[in-house]
Amino acid sequence: MTSDTSSRFTANVAELVGRNRRYAERFVDADLQVRPTRQLAVVTCMDSRIDTFAVLGLGNGEAHIIRNAGGIITDDVIRSLCLSQRFLGTREIVLVHHTDCGLQKVDEAEFRDELAAELGVKPWWSLETFTDPYEDVRQSMQRLFMTPFIRHKDHISGFVYDVTDGLLHAVGLDGRRNAVDPVPSG
Ligand SMILES: [Zn+2]
Repeated sequence: MTSDTSSRFTANVAELVGRNRRYAERFVDADLQVRPTRQLAVVTCMDSRIDTFAVLGLGNGEAHIIRNAGGIITDDVIRSLCLSQRFLGTREIVLVHHTDCGLQKVDEAEFRDELAAELGVKPWWSLETFTDPYEDVRQSMQRLFMTPFIRHKDHISGFVYDVTDGLLHAVGLDGRRNAVDPVPSG
């Protein structure tokens, strides 16, 4: 496998707990409600370079943020979105995939073969690697349109976030970057 086991590593948890103590001293969000005020759910990649709140100018309490490797619409993402819409009042879904994703750097067949050889069992899930982030957004939007568990489908948008300049680029249902991105407001 390609995992890095040789480099030195220092665990973060003690420092994180210390930072949390300082965070709690200035805590101002005690009155936020469980239902997102913008009735918005965002699905994005776990990539460490995407500060979802900052990229979209969101604050705590405004949106659900659902993340996994790639921002792929998996069964578990559908589970979260179903809860989000049916019990917590969201009506809009924004997908944000991005350039230079880790999933573009892995060969899925090789990955499966390596796991099977090492562990004696093939993963029963798909890694969902891809080459084109725009086509990958289209695929994810299509899954949302096809699942019966998503109730509100009138406001589904997809974007590719460029990790080199911080800009979002809208994706059409044809899997191409929109010639003209939506007119910004706010
Ligand atoms: Zn990614």
